[in-house]
Amino acid sequence: MKLKNKIHSLSTLMMLILLILSNLGIYFTFDRTQHKTEYSQLLGSAKELTVALSKMTDEEEAEIILRAYVPPNGALRVVDEEGKDILAVQSMEGFDKKFPIPNKDEQYTIVPFNGYEALSIAIPTIWPTGEVVQLEMTQVLTDLKANLKLLRMVMIGITLFAMIPIIISSITLGRIVTQPIEKLIQAMTASRRSGTFQQIAVPDNGKDELAQLGQTFNDLMIQLEQNYRKQEKFVSDASHELKTPLTVIDSYARLLERRGMDKPEITEEALTAIRNETKRMKEMIEQMLDLARNNEPASYVFEETDIRALVDEASRMITSAYGREIHISGPDQMVISTDETHLKQLCIILLDNARKYSQREIDIRIDEQQDFVRIRIRDYGKGIPAKDIPFLFDRFYRVDEDRNRKTGGTGLGLAIANEIAIGLGTKLDIESEEGKGTEVIIWLPKTLPSQ
Ligand code: ADP
Repeated sequence: MKLKNKIHSLSTLMMLILLILSNLGIYFTFDRTQHKTEYSQLLGSAKELTVALSKMTDEEEAEIILRAYVPPNGALRVVDEEGKDILAVQSMEGFDKKFPIPNKDEQYTIVPFNGYEALSIAIPTIWPTGEVVQLEMTQVLTDLKANLKLLRMVMIGITLFAMIPIIISSITLGRIVTQPIEKLIQAMTASRRSGTFQQIAVPDNGKDELAQLGQTFNDLMIQLEQNYRKQEKFVSDASHELKTPLTVIDSYARLLERRGMDKPEITEEALTAIRNETKRMKEMIEQMLDLARNNEPASYVFEETDIRALVDEASRMITSAYGREIHISGPDQMVISTDETHLKQLCIILLDNARKYSQREIDIRIDEQQDFVRIRIRDYGKGIPAKDIPFLFDRFYRVDEDRNRKTGGTGLGLAIANEIAIGLGTKLDIESEEGKGTEVIIWLPKTLPSQ
């Protein structure tokens, strides 16, 4: 069943049940109240009769009084202690039947009588002879039956009439809810068929959840398209990048094939080149995998970490591997919540760049700003031209091919650094002056946005 029909039939059914239940409530309350009223009236006249009888001394006089008190549609009976009738009067023919009287714990009894209900009560009284007798009064509830019938008709009429707006509103509700969903389905189907990322029209001033759903869908589509384009570019860039070392390996392999046997110096050169290019490819593939891994938010674990100790360790690694001098200044301890492994990886990437693109010492300064801890990594190398700075975080972006060939760069280091920075909830700033050097600043938030 379609969602529209489900909403339609369910809301109509619920409203119908609600109407029927409230009508039943009203009906039974009215029925009960009416019975109570009839009972009170009958009891009132029975009590009046008792008072009147208490003043009588003559049985014949009492009979006249009794006749005056017979209910319009009912009967009256006086019964002695043994249960024998002393007197029975009725307002109509056929009412001479003995109606059941209530038990001690009941106020009245009701029995069906000729298609109506007969309500009976019994109270003790003193008969003119001085004997204690029981006065039984019965009233046939003809008016009540007519009133209840009228009430039933009115309620059925109201229920049927109320169903018209209920059905109209449930159809409208079904449409309001399902229209945007249908639009989403259409957009998704069209996107799937055409391989594009289609968006849906969302009212500008729409503030409700359905408008939000549409807006979120459009945002999702934009993001999917961006990711798709990024992925596409990455695959084409990666294949292009891998093609170069493969071409070098291939041409040296051919050279070896042709002349390697006669000239040992060529063999030496070819093998060195093949080894270098293989190493470069391996590094590149490892970095690509790193890039994919650092994109996963689940891989970040935030714990109290001493930044100073972490920077000291990263520097030690670079110094012992490349013998480069690194100066660190700042407090001896600086503890914040961050992901130690990823932050260390980020520092190593930046220190490795500083090492690759400069000859002199590297300076690291750690200090505290209002909401951030700042780590500045400064080198005194050739610097980066201002025009290149906006593109440094793009995958495979290199300032100049020749510079990177020599240093063995892949153009992935800063892209990975940027992904890590995003994962750590931080950002990187790069300031550089050509010929003077470069400074990369890591802004680490003291408290994470989600905390
Ligand atoms: P790579 O692996 O080529 O170093 P990166 O993404 O780390 O890739 O760097 C991108 C480009 O930025 C490189 O081509 C390099 O020339 C330039 N670069 C990065 N860091 C520095 C630095 N400290 N000094 C000068 N140039 C740098």
